[in-house]
This record gives sequence, structure tokens and C-alpha cells, in this order.
Amino acid sequence: MLGYMLGASQKIENVGEINALTHHQKKRMNIDEICSCGARETDCPYWKEVLKEDYKIYSHPPLLTQLKIMTRIILGISFKQSGIKNSADYRLFRKLLGLFGQNNDELDTILDTSKNLWRLIYLMQCDDIDLKVLYLRRDIYGNVSSFMKYEKSFWKSLIKYVGRNYFMKRFLDNNNVKQLHVNYFNYCNDTNNEMKRIGNFLGIDQSGYEDKMKSRDYHVSTGNMKMREKFREGSTSIKYDSSWKERLNWWENLVLRLFEKPAI
Ligand SMILES: [Zn+2]
Repeated sequence: MLGYMLGASQKIENVGEINALTHHQKKRMNIDEICSCGARETDCPYWKEVLKEDYKIYSHPPLLTQLKIMTRIILGISFKQSGIKNSADYRLFRKLLGLFGQNNDELDTILDTSKNLWRLIYLMQCDDIDLKVLYLRRDIYGNVSSFMKYEKSFWKSLIKYVGRNYFMKRFLDNNNVKQLHVNYFNYCNDTNNEMKRIGNFLGIDQSGYEDKMKSRDYHVSTGNMKMREKFREGSTSIKYDSSWKERLNWWENLVLRLFEKPAI
């Protein structure tokens, strides 16, 4: 929902999780994703244009490179800030700015909601992309419980959480990336103030975002399908997700309490 809230600004186009696009491109016309505008992705006036071209966008490096990157992060060695020019990602962002900018003179920012550390490190090294990172941190209970929906195993979900949070936070701490950390709990409970803070960071005026969300056109075809459906049906509210309280049993709660501090 944060993506939709930020996309309320005319200066920003929320394009969803770009790292899912590779998968969509591979499936081409067989894809059944519904864009938040209500059309199938292959019929949406914007995405059908994008899918015509084969952008080799960056998503996951080979395993050996992943290991090298993780070692670097553990050792606290920072990454080079530039070097890559005219990448497929840069060309895709330009294409999206062009397409969505046809009816919107103010547009100057593409919001990619991919939650992918590899992609982040890559984008940071693209000379021609002015990158700003919003790091939304969710509590361990909600996060692990959410992973359990897919992973099924509590322990696998815990390892995933610790791994993701450890490496992402350590990378951001040790690299000179423009970044703003947002706590999920504060974001849900003090949304207006958090939106102001995020707006200041991004250089946009987020006042009245709720009304703007209702009048703005959105074309998000990747990411959480349920959220897209909810948004299409007109829901724009934020509510702290406390379903973990029912999903986690007493010993799982106890184990997570042990990991709570060091992981965040
Ligand atoms: Zn659309």
C-alpha cells in the first residue's frame, strides 16, 4: 500500500515489482496477471508496450556472485558506486518515464517496489540512475509469520528473515546510498506523519495523498495480487497486520523473542 500512497504524487509512477517482469516477459502472452487498471497485463495500454521489448532487467546474479556479495557484506566492504552505463534497467526506466509521462508533465520518478538486495546493489552501480532507497522494516513476528504462508516451515521462515534483514541492513549501513528507514509499526499507526517524512526524503508533497489516490490512474501489474484487488475495489486504508498473533504458537513466539533484537 505504501507504493500506492507514494504513487498518489504526480511526480511518481508506481510501477510495482520490476524484478517480477522478467518472469512476465518469458511467459509473454500466456500471462494472466491483471493490472491495477483492471485490464490484463497484455491488454493494458502501458504494459503491453513494455512487454513488446525484451529488457534484460537485473534480478538475480549466479550463485558464486551471490556468495561473493554476501562475503563482502559480512566483511563490511563497501561496493563501487558507479561504472555501469546505459543498462537495460536504465533503458526500461526511461521507457516507463516516456510512456507514463505522455499524459503527465510532472512525472520524474519511477517507483520500483522490488524487495531484492541483488537488484538494489546493481542499481546502485548504474551511473545514470539517481537511486533513493526506502527501507520498510517489519517486525520479526509479522515477517516470519508471513513467510510461513509460503515456506510452511517455521525454521526456514526464520532463516529467511534473519538472512534478509541482516544482509540488507548491513549493506545499507556500510554503503553511501541515499536511504530512509521506515518502521512498519510507526507507518501503520502514525501514517500521516510518516508520509510527511517520506515525502521530505523524496522531495514530494504528500499532503492530501488519500484524495489524490482516488483520482490517480494506477498501472501496477506485479506484486501482491490481493493488494491489487483490494486497491481496485477502492480500499486505501492501512491497518497493522496482527494475524501473526493467531498464526504463531507459544514456542514460536518465544524463539522469535530471542531473535528480535539482533536481527533488527
Ligand atoms: Zn494498466
